[in-house]
Amino acid sequence: MNQYRSWIEIDLEQFRKNIQLIKAFLGQKKYCLPIKGNAYGHGLVRIAKTAEEESVDYLAVATLCEGVLLRNKGIRLPILVLGSFQKEEIQDLIEHDLEFTISSQYKARLVENHLFKKSRKAKVHLKIDTGMRRVGAVPETALEIYESIITSSKMELRGIYSHYANADVSSHPFNQFQKEAFSDFINKINSDSICIHIANSSAFLDPALNIGSMARVGMLSFGITHLEKPDSLKNITSFFTLKSRVSYFKVIQKGEGVSYGHTYVARKATRIVTLPIGYGDGYLRCLSNKSYVLIRGQKYPVVGTICMDQMMVDIGDGEAYVGDEVVLIGKQKDKVISLEEIAHLANTIPYEILCHFNERLPRIYLESQKLAFG
Ligand SMILES: *Cc1c(COP(=O)(O)O)cnc(C)c1O
Repeated sequence: MNQYRSWIEIDLEQFRKNIQLIKAFLGQKKYCLPIKGNAYGHGLVRIAKTAEEESVDYLAVATLCEGVLLRNKGIRLPILVLGSFQKEEIQDLIEHDLEFTISSQYKARLVENHLFKKSRKAKVHLKIDTGMRRVGAVPETALEIYESIITSSKMELRGIYSHYANADVSSHPFNQFQKEAFSDFINKINSDSICIHIANSSAFLDPALNIGSMARVGMLSFGITHLEKPDSLKNITSFFTLKSRVSYFKVIQKGEGVSYGHTYVARKATRIVTLPIGYGDGYLRCLSNKSYVLIRGQKYPVVGTICMDQMMVDIGDGEAYVGDEVVLIGKQKDKVISLEEIAHLANTIPYEILCHFNERLPRIYLESQKLAFG
């Protein structure tokens, strides 16, 4: 038993399996693992180290800081910083050997100017906007930018990429439009020896959309997708478990309200337990009176308003003792509360749920010794 009030368990063995299955499915294509947002809540550094051990080809992060942290922790894989950089960040990006995104002629010039009279070269990826309308040059201007990058003595072109706006809806007609716009662009240039990438997890699962020489497989690497998986990927699963412990037990009477605002009123005498976790840890307050937890293999409702540091559960005439382990997301005995289910109850997507869990919840990493104990 650990000393924590609430924590997250990360099963790295399952993560390794997910990586291996995705790698096998990719065949000759390169595997880029996006680990922005603290590796989708799984813990940036440990996830990066494990990915490096499993020979993933590339990591992708959102910010300079994430990249610098990884380099300071000894990660040597190529790291692509997605999104757009600011002028003030160029020096650190280059110094930490981070590859970054050129999305306009202006950004290309910033890099040129910065490296004027310096001997170093920036490793860059050109971002094409094929319809996401977020960051990137539209194909017509991108051709000019491409020319300036490949003729520059200050930049080395490592990749060209784009991003689907509707890949999560596989039949969406816009996917085809973006794919064609991207292919048309790639056909106009010399793409030998550079990474061509457009597919995220959803597009990776769709053979019609998974084009290019690399795929950026984020959420699926963490075991989550709402799409049908081909047979060879069936064993990919989530390896994230959110746990807490019963910290208090009481019996309340019919008509008594629970927590702020008494949004829950007992219809009969019942047993209420308190858990030391709340929205201050990232368990969303909008789940009040909506979500469930698992205690001793039984599913019980979260009742009353979720507080910053605590929340209450109605166990009816069920059994629970102070110190009992509680599962809020994940499996206990034969019952499961999935991340997708929690996201649905919170009216959001799994990505956002994962990003809310903060450093107050320690991440506990399970390695192979866990398997030895079953
Ligand atoms: C986050 C991100 C990805 C990964 O998306 P998943 O749906 O998690 O696979 C890919 N590409 C870009 C540009 C991203 O920002």
